[in-house]
Amino acid sequence: MTSAPPTSESEPEEESAVETARRQLERAAAHLDVDDGIVERLRHPTSVYRMTIPLERDDGTREMFTGYRAHHDGVRGPYKGGIRYHPDVTEEESVGLSMWMTWKCAVMDLPFGGAKGGVVVNPKELSNKEKERLTRRFAEELRPMIGPMKDIPAPDMGTDPETMAWFMDAYSMQEGQTEPGVVTGKPPVVGGSYGREEAPGRSVGIITREAIDYYDWDREDTTVAVQGFGSVGANAARYLDDLGASVVAVSDVNGAIYDPDGLDTNDVEDHDETPGMVSGYDAPQSLTNEELLELDVDVLIPAAIGNVLTAENANNVNAEMIVEGANGPTTSAADQIFEERGINVIPDIIANAGGVTVSYFEWLQDINRRKWRLERVNEELETEMLRAWNAVRSEYEARDVTWRDATYIVALERIAEAHETRGLWP
Ligand code: GLU
Repeated sequence: MTSAPPTSESEPEEESAVETARRQLERAAAHLDVDDGIVERLRHPTSVYRMTIPLERDDGTREMFTGYRAHHDGVRGPYKGGIRYHPDVTEEESVGLSMWMTWKCAVMDLPFGGAKGGVVVNPKELSNKEKERLTRRFAEELRPMIGPMKDIPAPDMGTDPETMAWFMDAYSMQEGQTEPGVVTGKPPVVGGSYGREEAPGRSVGIITREAIDYYDWDREDTTVAVQGFGSVGANAARYLDDLGASVVAVSDVNGAIYDPDGLDTNDVEDHDETPGMVSGYDAPQSLTNEELLELDVDVLIPAAIGNVLTAENANNVNAEMIVEGANGPTTSAADQIFEERGINVIPDIIANAGGVTVSYFEWLQDINRRKWRLERVNEELETEMLRAWNAVRSEYEARDVTWRDATYIVALERIAEAHETRGLWP
């Protein structure tokens, strides 16, 4: 893992998540009087586990898959973060994503540390039964490292509530008791929280609304383009549409649709309803995903995958503001260009943090054997998002930094203080 700063000539096509995460940490640290030893500690994970997961395929053959779980920092509480099923999962990526979870939980002031894991697999190439067996075996391999008070996984790319139900069941069968608090993002019927699935997109909507109001824009006149129409993108687009903003473009992996007068986002089927259907929708114009990123809009929301805004296309972005729905959609080099061009970037670690925030609510419900109504979940999510936004806004105004730096400053201050307070032992 290297951490050399990027140059325009040497910037890799795909910057690794851990490199981006370390640079963001160093930038925030430069604004704070934090002990160098604590910053150095936060550049590294506490532990990274790697395991081989044998899977019996439906045809009776055995295939080996590699799984990871990275624990970044646990000073503020049990490790927390999703599990990703994707062919590009690597150890480095898991570590980088676990670092973002540490900051995300701290910005939201949740009593959790950061973790992330995944399996190197294309879930679309597995039958449902194979996915279930893989998940159960992965849960079993992870059992010594996880638990409601140790490390609580959740869904991420390629995993969903059903995956979390299998995970919880496998863990619980071995523990001899139902342990809903071992994992969040479950279906509500087995201890999941109402509103959890919509939460990351909803928080992107709430934070975009706050940013629109902060700049005194007229909500009705604000144009929005959303890359990705899965759980995050679709829920964010619909939230903003319902608010009165004009969502002019949305996309999925097959392409984008565009209507300068605004799309009816509730009428466009999202990825969970029918995968890959966005480009089939009857809209005035179709675009490529690249064209969507370069549209002349007020707000651009990349809500698909990481590293889509790079040194290559950052100069062509025409949005006034970017709100990150995906984790890590902007490389450091692109971030630099946006800063120079005066384009505000509201970072992932606050914008999509509604996911882990409602995961926290789910965990609270599970360990207390309670069930909250959807209205309560959404009310408390609104409260927590506003609390975090106000903390970030104060730093933004006081220090005259970017929105990303302001957000990292809030997170790092809390984490560093917790390290100072707990001390080092042994
Ligand atoms: N995978 C989600 C994220 O990146 C949620 C993590 C969680 O709920 O623990 O924020």
